[in-house]
Amino acid sequence: MAAPFKIYNTRTRKLEDFEPIEAGKIRLYACGNTVYDHCHIGHARGMILFDSFVRYLRHRGWDVDFVRNFTDVDDKIINRANELGEDPLALSARFIDEYHADATAMGLETPTQEPKVSESMDDIQGMIASLIEKGNAYQNEGSVWFDVGSFSEYGSLSGQKVDELRSADEASGKRSPADFALWKAVKPGEPAWPSPWGEGRPGWHIECSAMAKATLGDTIDIHGGGLDLVFPHHENEVAQSVCGNKADYARVWMHHGLLTMASGQKMGKSFGNVINVKVALEAFPAETLRLYYLQNQYRSPLPWGDEALSEALGMLSRLYEAREVAEAMKGEEPAENVAKSMGKDAQTVLDLGESFSERFYAAMDQDFNTALAIAHLMELSRAINRFGNLKKANKRGGPVVAAALKAFSLAADSMGLMRMTTEEFHAQVKEKRLAAMGIDPADVEKLIEDRGTARAEKNWDRADEIRKELEAKSIMVMDQADGVQWRVKL
Ligand SMILES: [Zn+2]
Repeated sequence: MAAPFKIYNTRTRKLEDFEPIEAGKIRLYACGNTVYDHCHIGHARGMILFDSFVRYLRHRGWDVDFVRNFTDVDDKIINRANELGEDPLALSARFIDEYHADATAMGLETPTQEPKVSESMDDIQGMIASLIEKGNAYQNEGSVWFDVGSFSEYGSLSGQKVDELRSADEASGKRSPADFALWKAVKPGEPAWPSPWGEGRPGWHIECSAMAKATLGDTIDIHGGGLDLVFPHHENEVAQSVCGNKADYARVWMHHGLLTMASGQKMGKSFGNVINVKVALEAFPAETLRLYYLQNQYRSPLPWGDEALSEALGMLSRLYEAREVAEAMKGEEPAENVAKSMGKDAQTVLDLGESFSERFYAAMDQDFNTALAIAHLMELSRAINRFGNLKKANKRGGPVVAAALKAFSLAADSMGLMRMTTEEFHAQVKEKRLAAMGIDPADVEKLIEDRGTARAEKNWDRADEIRKELEAKSIMVMDQADGVQWRVKL
């Protein structure tokens, strides 16, 4: 049985009980990227959020059909291709590959379907023809326009009045300023496809209506995207789909806030303030980005700060540390007995661990409150670390932390966090943080070896000097029974 949940619907501006069209199934469509450059961390917010929501819903028993499209025919692509002297479709194909590489590096699952505009021309033209036939669209000079005046509900998603609207599409050939292009007549130097209205290419909005219909049907459960898409893109999708299909389009509209720069600007190539995913992942493990986005409420704008990922990595490291501490604990006695004899810190871990899944699900089922879910995880981790400091916790604490350990698996399975082993996590931190600090791991190894030699020669002053040198590089040395280990201090 799929678990019920509440979701905020942009359409009604209310938190609602989610009601699927078909029991147990969710048809989810999210607007994807226009592929003319690398993914930046602003894109990553939407990519990671929807990946996490889909993971969570599947974890809760929903059969999710998740469609995310690629806009591979677009003005921006054509302009970039002209700058580079490259074929536009070759350029977009190249950046679809880059997108997939970034998605894999971020640990995202592949959507069920990933339609592209260039492969959806029949569906797009079919929908345009149907809109003309029904009187919602008209052709003029080889272009086709949607007649906004023919749809009385136009403006209801974004809450705008039609008479004040003006579409960005150039005015030539349209009847009213708010009308928008479904099909654009060919211009010299642009890719074009044959159509009943002459050679040309689709407008931006029609692609999502056509691809959603082709992949998921006339009515979908949830349509998602960034808040910047509500108008005009999603408003226009509603107009096209409702008029073309004579059916409701998306029951729930789900919009995430944007990543903004300190200046309040949105991140984008046109603002010259872009941090690419690849660059971020050279310096931080991918789960850092995921934690950063999930610890913030998805609908809110998220101001980017230079320390954002360092802080998120600090949090992530405390989670891994707590899990490592808990995993090392042994013991056979009943948990209640141990807690009783070891005191408040033990009892807290036991209580937080045993009530964890209930509190976690309650947060997530309230419009995906990942911020609260992560706060629960951090609270539990702090309690484990406090408990771990107690004498004998290592010997007797195992039964007390058993439930808490399940919390970490739950986070991994339902949010995609903490999917690495402790060793993998520290190996990634070493590789990426040392590279970011410009430190060669071989130099660290050499210093640790020298320290070993100094200690063997009982040259304590020298050994201490080296330890300080390592500390200055944020390297923590741990002398263990089976040898010396080192980690990057976070
Ligand atoms: Zn779209």
